[in-house]
Amino acid sequence: MKFDPSANIFDLLQFGEYGDVNPSVTDSATYTFMQAKTMTDTFEGNTEGCFLYSRHWNPSNKYLADALAAMEGTESAWVTGSGMGAITCAILQVCHSGDHIVSSRTVYGGTFAFMQNWLPKYNISVTFIDPTNLDEVKAAIRPNTKMIYTEAMTNPMLQISDIPALSQIANDHNLKLVVDNTFTPLMVAPARLGAHIVVYSMTKFINGKNDCVAGAICAPVEFINALSNVNDGTAMLLGPVLDPFRSSSILKNLHTLHIRMQKHSQNAMYLAERFKEAGLKFNYPGMKEHPGHETLKRIMNPDFGFGGMIAIDLGTAEKASEFMEKMELAGVGYLAVSLGYFKTLFSNSGKSTSSEVPEDEQKKMGMSAGLVRFSVGLDHDIERTWLKIKDCLLAVQ
Ligand SMILES: *Cc1c(COP(=O)(O)O)cnc(C)c1O
Repeated sequence: MKFDPSANIFDLLQFGEYGDVNPSVTDSATYTFMQAKTMTDTFEGNTEGCFLYSRHWNPSNKYLADALAAMEGTESAWVTGSGMGAITCAILQVCHSGDHIVSSRTVYGGTFAFMQNWLPKYNISVTFIDPTNLDEVKAAIRPNTKMIYTEAMTNPMLQISDIPALSQIANDHNLKLVVDNTFTPLMVAPARLGAHIVVYSMTKFINGKNDCVAGAICAPVEFINALSNVNDGTAMLLGPVLDPFRSSSILKNLHTLHIRMQKHSQNAMYLAERFKEAGLKFNYPGMKEHPGHETLKRIMNPDFGFGGMIAIDLGTAEKASEFMEKMELAGVGYLAVSLGYFKTLFSNSGKSTSSEVPEDEQKKMGMSAGLVRFSVGLDHDIERTWLKIKDCLLAVQ
């Protein structure tokens, strides 16, 4: 039977305390026990269904984590207060002092900065590679390598990682393959394709409302238990816990993700076709000219399209700024970082979300100074939006 991540979410029966159709929000930091021994057992991790303290587990967070594990097809999941909280905890749970990571160079700016500037302080080294060049990936592996890290669809070049091939390399060398699936929820199911750990910024498409930051780690139960171990679990001890009110609202938004992803993809595809007709230099993995198109087609769930991210190259940063300011005034959307919102967001990658990436690395990843990245919104009439974009393009040419 076809793997249907959205049906898996809908199949869960999660009731509230009084049969509420939405699970109750657990508004508590701590939990009481009727017997002292049950508390001791819970500390040791031996009591199913008991909660101890909300930095460890909170029932509202557990409902959301269960839904994410169902979506991803993993045994378990853990939710965090931000995407960076999820990414840093997953990395630090796997890698210790002296270890080495092979990472895509086109990762999210914060992830790049963490690997480049923060991990060396703890003697963890990183080699940055092009994830679409499998020979480069293999050549970068050292005896102390513990992890291959990539994004299913990379920011901002929208490169596509061949997850099955990377998984094969990871398995051959006994490494963990960690995939950030923030740009492609439902569209790509990394764990089903061989990733060992899947991380998310739920701030983006999963929540889709731009009202909070949040993250998630989807992985085998053994890994999630290790992360949350009271004695040495990275997530438990660094403490990037998600607030239960937020997890409750994200869980509701997760149930409309399938419709939203379809609409984001449909609108982005429409714009890609217009950009092509207009002879613009742009990047969209849904077009057969895109270098990752065939890979994406092979690994994606076609029900959700090619995603809501598209980038145009205006050549220079000055032109990009002028274009974005005009689009904001014309009501195309907002000049803002982030993505996965119901309104269209756009930003100049080199000066914003990838500004942590040094200019020579930006060049290596083929990123132009004039790259304007769009997160295409849920506009009902996308033709109307295109006409506005077209006017702005004409005005800056
Ligand atoms: C935004 C983002 C992150 C970081 O997530 P936060 O929720 O902002 O901490 C990580 N990876 C990708 C691909 C992102 O877009």
